[in-house]
Formats: sequence, structure tokens, C-alpha cells
Amino acid sequence: MPGTNLTRDEAETRSGHVSVASYDVHLDLTGDGETFGSTTTVVFASADRASTWLDLVAPEVSEVTVNGTALDPQTAFDGARVRLSGLAEQNEVRVMARCSYMTTGEGMHRFVDPADGQTYLYTQFEVPDARRVFAVFEQPDLKARFTFTVDAPESWLVVSNTQAAVEPSRDGVRCWQFEPTPPISSYVTAICAGPYHVVRSEYQGAHGTIPLAVYCRASLAEHLDADEILDVTRRGFAFFEDLFDHPYPFSAYDQVFVPEFNAGAMENAGCITYRDEYLFRSRVTDAAYERRAETILHEMAHMWFGDLVTMRWWNDLWLNESFATWASVLAQVEATRWRQAWTTFASAEKLWALRQDQLPTTHPISAEIRDLQDVEVNFDGITYAKGASVLKQLVAWVGRDAFVAGLRRYFRRHAWGNTTLRDLFDELEAESGRDLSAWEQEWLLTAGVNTLRPVLEVADNAGAPRYAYAAIDQEAASEHPTLRSHRVAIGLYDRGPHGLTRRESIEIDVTGSRTEVPHLVGLAAADLVLVNDEDLTFTKIRFDSTSLDTLERHIGDLGDSLARSLAWTGLTDMLRDAELPARRFVALVLSGVGRESDLSVVQTLLAQGRVAVETYSDPAGRDVLRRRWATALSTLAHEAEPGSDHQLALVRAWSAATSAPEDLEEISGMLDGSAHIPGLVLDRDLRWHLLQRLAIRGRADDTDIAAALAQDRTSAGERQADLARAARPTSQAKQEAWDAIMEPGKLTNAAMEATLAGFAPPEQVDVLRAFAQQYFDAVMSVWRERTFHTAERIITGLFPRVVVSQEVVDQARSDADRPDTPWPVRRMLLEGAADVERALRAQACDAAG
Ligand SMILES: [Zn+2]
Repeated sequence: MPGTNLTRDEAETRSGHVSVASYDVHLDLTGDGETFGSTTTVVFASADRASTWLDLVAPEVSEVTVNGTALDPQTAFDGARVRLSGLAEQNEVRVMARCSYMTTGEGMHRFVDPADGQTYLYTQFEVPDARRVFAVFEQPDLKARFTFTVDAPESWLVVSNTQAAVEPSRDGVRCWQFEPTPPISSYVTAICAGPYHVVRSEYQGAHGTIPLAVYCRASLAEHLDADEILDVTRRGFAFFEDLFDHPYPFSAYDQVFVPEFNAGAMENAGCITYRDEYLFRSRVTDAAYERRAETILHEMAHMWFGDLVTMRWWNDLWLNESFATWASVLAQVEATRWRQAWTTFASAEKLWALRQDQLPTTHPISAEIRDLQDVEVNFDGITYAKGASVLKQLVAWVGRDAFVAGLRRYFRRHAWGNTTLRDLFDELEAESGRDLSAWEQEWLLTAGVNTLRPVLEVADNAGAPRYAYAAIDQEAASEHPTLRSHRVAIGLYDRGPHGLTRRESIEIDVTGSRTEVPHLVGLAAADLVLVNDEDLTFTKIRFDSTSLDTLERHIGDLGDSLARSLAWTGLTDMLRDAELPARRFVALVLSGVGRESDLSVVQTLLAQGRVAVETYSDPAGRDVLRRRWATALSTLAHEAEPGSDHQLALVRAWSAATSAPEDLEEISGMLDGSAHIPGLVLDRDLRWHLLQRLAIRGRADDTDIAAALAQDRTSAGERQADLARAARPTSQAKQEAWDAIMEPGKLTNAAMEATLAGFAPPEQVDVLRAFAQQYFDAVMSVWRERTFHTAERIITGLFPRVVVSQEVVDQARSDADRPDTPWPVRRMLLEGAADVERALRAQACDAAG
């Protein structure tokens, strides 16, 4: 990707010279499927008339006019930038270009629906891809008013950031004239166009009425549960308008479910895009509805924090994302039916954050972002999950009332502007009276996670054991030695007639390497001591031997869902750190998962159990463990309550785990109707899941996959078939998948995602071993030839993680260390190596223990 980078220094220099008033962007979407017409007129001031440039990535520029004078496009345009010279104090520049439709989900994505042959378009601009659609000063602090005009086929709807006036159609073409936006950054502008299905509604709130609309492809209309989506939307508006004490800043709220989307969703101002896998065509568990609601509320929070007030540069991306994540979980807990959302947060987001924070490539939350490459690789577990954990802590630190009051001042003071973290801290410090600089130094400017470990001495006085000494030890990894200040609760849990229940919780401040806890001395020893009870801080936790023993026997008796989730996260972390052998972890999961009520925790545990069996267990004992895992899951799946979410989750896990001939017979029978599990509905996606499991085991071939696809001629069906084909266990099937992935332009981003997802099941390590060297040979050409998202997806997705060996670790490290390896590639290789090295250590632990 040469030539398309932008450094922070360049951006700062440009915003020193330039202030933009407006863009008029005219797009002609009526032509062929390769390119579209794009004409931009930008009005801006140049204080010193210094030459500058517009960003534009396009195959062809036919006109560049500066204040009425034509420049030669051949010399002004280099493929990524349009050089502007001859500037006055006030300027009007016009650029005419042909831009490319993309199939990678970056810029203007074009998709043809196999269900009905209809074409759909949408844009995705974060971080630097508005320039693939129009000429633009592409940096967040050059806000401007955008006026979009779009010519489109008459049968289409066009959606953008504002409302449109539509002209009568002429010669089959309709012109959509959108109102000017308020001052916004280019990365949150958007255009969606196509024969979208729409459901319209409105929200009546304290500050007036907001028009609402939900869009999806025509072929998905039957799966659009607009009532549920709009219900979450209205609850969100009521909650946020009150919390932020600021009206919704845009004129309408359109939510567009789009195909082949790379992320979960995007917070375009007033025009949210979501991956349309969020419209459920088959039965999913309530965890999926919970996750979707979190996403809806996350994007909505960005309308204020991100779109109304915007980071000056990408180094504050973490704050943007962490705020939206924190605000969305808070809204879920306080305004929707998912009152347990902090439990999900503790189980899913924190595991993600912990994993990322222990990679060799971890970084401070507030990272130095030198250029666009830096920010692209930073959409990670530090930016989203650790940042949100730490922000939750900050709220506790300054107090919720002061935090909210500071936030309200921040929105009032900086509306439509750009800010840095300091601007927010100024308001929080003013409201709370607390100096946040020490907190910032500990939590935002240093990387790495601490471990809190209880140190307990028990004196047994005539059969009544009591604590004689109690302390919390704090540790840090040698590469990131910072010890921090933690507000921590310590929960004491006892076994009794109502299970494992909390007797007492003590809050203390932990600082330095050892903090004594005199409050505990003299108290009766507990069956379980849970450090970080209530999840107040971001830390790894460990258990004393009594507590570990209690968990191994009775974790299912722990009644409180947040406490259970914290315990599971601690145990998973011990597995990953080679402190708990895989087979003991698997036994723990099997003892607890059947009694776990929280679906998101159930699904996390089933996934972690599978990793423990397939990756972290001693290879010499793996077949025995596999059988134990599969047999136990079979029992759980067949005994689960008919029709329940648990049943669905367990059947999926069991069918993925088993290789027993009688089980595979049963699964085949479920597909042909000769076997069934009471209460289980075999809808399309469950059928695909089962067929893919058979394909992995060599029990379903091309013909079976083609037959299944004939029953499901949809884009989702095609992707399921891609996954199934790539998952077949033969060298030939792997080579076909490999060749398709490696040929530029062969697969769309969604087909790529599915093929990668099927390519490397851990059970197939013998056939996959041959591809490890091919991978290392191909990395640099993938990086050079593909756009960022595609390159990242391939380099991360094909890393030979299932080939757990020192050779893979050594080769990845030596390739990463070559002087010509670009930083993002180096990062991906080092992260792959760290995963494999962790698996090697865990396997050794399992073999020894
Ligand atoms: Zn976000």
C-alpha cells in the first residue's frame, strides 16, 4: 500500500494552513459496475496561501480547477493526492474523477445479491477511505459542511447523513439532493444506495421528534425485526438525551443493515451501518440479541461522543471507542432488559483485553499514533476493551455524578469541535476536584496488566479456622513493570444450603507490591476468596489453594453471575498462563457449564473449553481428553431443556467436538431427518453448522455442499458453503482454498472471511503443516498487493497457529525482525508467535501436571 499513508505531522501542518468551509459532492451511481463519477467542489481558506493537497484514491482524474484555473491532472494527481498550487486566501477547488467500486468493504462497497440479482452500495470510511469516493482533506480535525447530490437508478433508495429532496425521475435516473450536514469529519460521512427495504418510525423525546428508519436488503426483509431494533433505539435515545443533557445533534436517525461489512457497525452521523448478519435468519441465543443491542447503543453514543465532539487526531481513538463501549453497557443495564450486561462485559471484553495486554505488541491505552498505519492496527483489545475497563474505573474514581456533570460541560463547550483527552480531563477535574494526572500516568500511559494474588495465613483454633494474616500481592510482567493503584473489593464466600454465597465484601486500596488487609484478620476463613469482587479494577487475579479447591468442586454453586464470571475469567487466565493444566480446566468447564445461566458466559466457556482441548492440552493425552469432552457435551446436549438457548449452544459445541462414528451417524441422521433431538429446530444455519462439522471429518463432500447450497441460494448460504469447502480435510481442498485467498480480486471480503474461517480447524494439523512455510513465503507479497483490511485479514487469519511448534515461533520472529518488515506486518507476526509460544507452555504444563 505505498503512497497512501498520512503522518500526524503532515496532518498538523495542513490543519495549520487550511480551514474548510464546505464540500459539494456529486456522485453518479448510474454507470457500469466498475467505476462511478465523482465531482467535488471544496471551499476553504488558506491563511498563508501555501500549497497543499487533497486526498483522493482513484483510477482517473479528468479535471482539477483552482479558483477557475485548470491544472494539468497528469501532474497534479499521483494516485493518492491532488496537489493544489496557486491558492488565494479564499479558494474554490473542483476535482472530477472516476472512482472504483470496491469489494473489500473499504470506500464504496458494491454487492450483488445472489438471492435476487439486485445491486447494493454502501460506504465505509474509517479510517482513511472517504478519499476513495471523493476528493477530501482526510483528517478528523478539518470538519466541514458536506452537501451530497447523488444520481441513482430510479428504483433505488439513497440514504446519507441528512434528509433529501428527490427529483422526479428522468430516463430511469433519479437525483437525490441532500441537505447540508452540520460541521462533521469526513470519516463519518456516508452514502448507502440500492433497492433497500425500509421501515420508518419516529422517536418523540424531551427535545422533539426524531425520524427513525431501518433499512436492509429486500431479500432479508422477512428477517428484519424492526420492532425490536427500534425499541432498543428509542430506549437509547431516552437514556442518552437525559444522561448527556444534550439533544440528539442530527436531524434523523437511519440504521442500515448492509452486506459484507468488515466490522460490527459504523457510527456515520445520523446514518449508522451494521453488518447484516445482525439480522437473524435462523435461531440464535439471547446472547446474540444482547450483543446486537450493545452495538446499537454503542453507535448511538458516538453521535455525541465522536461525531458532535470529535478527536483531533487518531491518538484519542481509544477514548472514542472506550467511551462508546462503556456508555452502551451502562445503557443496557439501566434502560433495557439486559440488566446483567456488566457480567457479559466481565467475561467477554475483559478476556479480550487481557489477551491483548499480554502480547509482546501491547501498548499504552493512549498510544502514540504517528500515521494511518499505526491507527489501522490499533482497532484492538486495548483500544476497545481495556480502554472501556479503565474508563469504568475512572467513573468510580471521580464519582459517577461528577463524571456525568463533567461530561455535560464537555458537550456544551466543545459541540461541533475537535478535542483531546486533556479537554475532557479539564471538565472532570473541575467537577470532581481530583487531579487526574497520576491516574493518567498509571493507566493510560503505561502498558501491561497487574496480577493480584491473595496471601492468607489461617490459624485453626479448635476446628474454627480464622485468618491470622492477610495481604494482597501485586505483580507485573518484567517488560511492563508498573505497579498501580487499584480500588479493589475482596469477597468472602461460604458454602451453605443456598450454594456458595457472599458473607462479606471489603473494599480497600491496593498499592505497591504488598498491601496488608488487617480487616480480614480474625474473620472466619472463607471457602472462596474472590479478589476484585464486583469487578472494580482491571487486573488478573489468582486464588489461594482453598479457593481453587472450592471452585474445582463447586463453581456451579456460585449464585452471583458477576462473581461466577470473574472466577471463570481468573481460571481461564491461569490456563493461558500455564498455571492450570488443560485437563483440569476442561473438567471445571464440564462441571459448571450445565448450570451456568448467563448465555454469553456459557458460550465463552464452551469456546475456551475447545481451545483447552485442541490447543493447550498435552498432545500425548489429547485423544483421551477429546473423547471425555465430546462424551460429556453429548450428555449435556441431549439432556438440555428442549428448545432452550442452552440446548442450541450445547448441540453446536458437541457437534464440533465429536469424532465418534456413532455421533457422526447421528448428525448425518439429523440432516436427513432420520434422527432428531426433541425441541431442536434444524433451521438453515444450524443445518450448515452440522454439515460443516461433517465436512471437517471427511463425512461431507462437494456434492453434499452443493446440494445444501441449492436449498439456500442466498449470500449467507454462499458464505456457509465457502466455509464448508475450505474445511474439507484433504490437501487438495486446502490448496484450492489457499489459491483463492492468494489471488487478488478473486474473493470478496465476505467470501475471504468465510474461507479463512474454514481453512484451519485444529483437528487438521497434519494436513495443515505443509502450509506453514507457504505462509511465511507469501506474507510480504500479500502486504504489498492488498488493501489494509484484506492484508490484515489474510496475514492474521492464515498464521499457522494450529501448528504448535518452536519452528513456527522462530520463523515468525526472525521474519518480524528483518529490517524491511513494515511495522504492521511485524506486529501481526509477533502476535502469532506469542500465541503459539503460549500454547507450547500450556501443553508442557498439562504434560507435567
Ligand atoms: Zn465505536
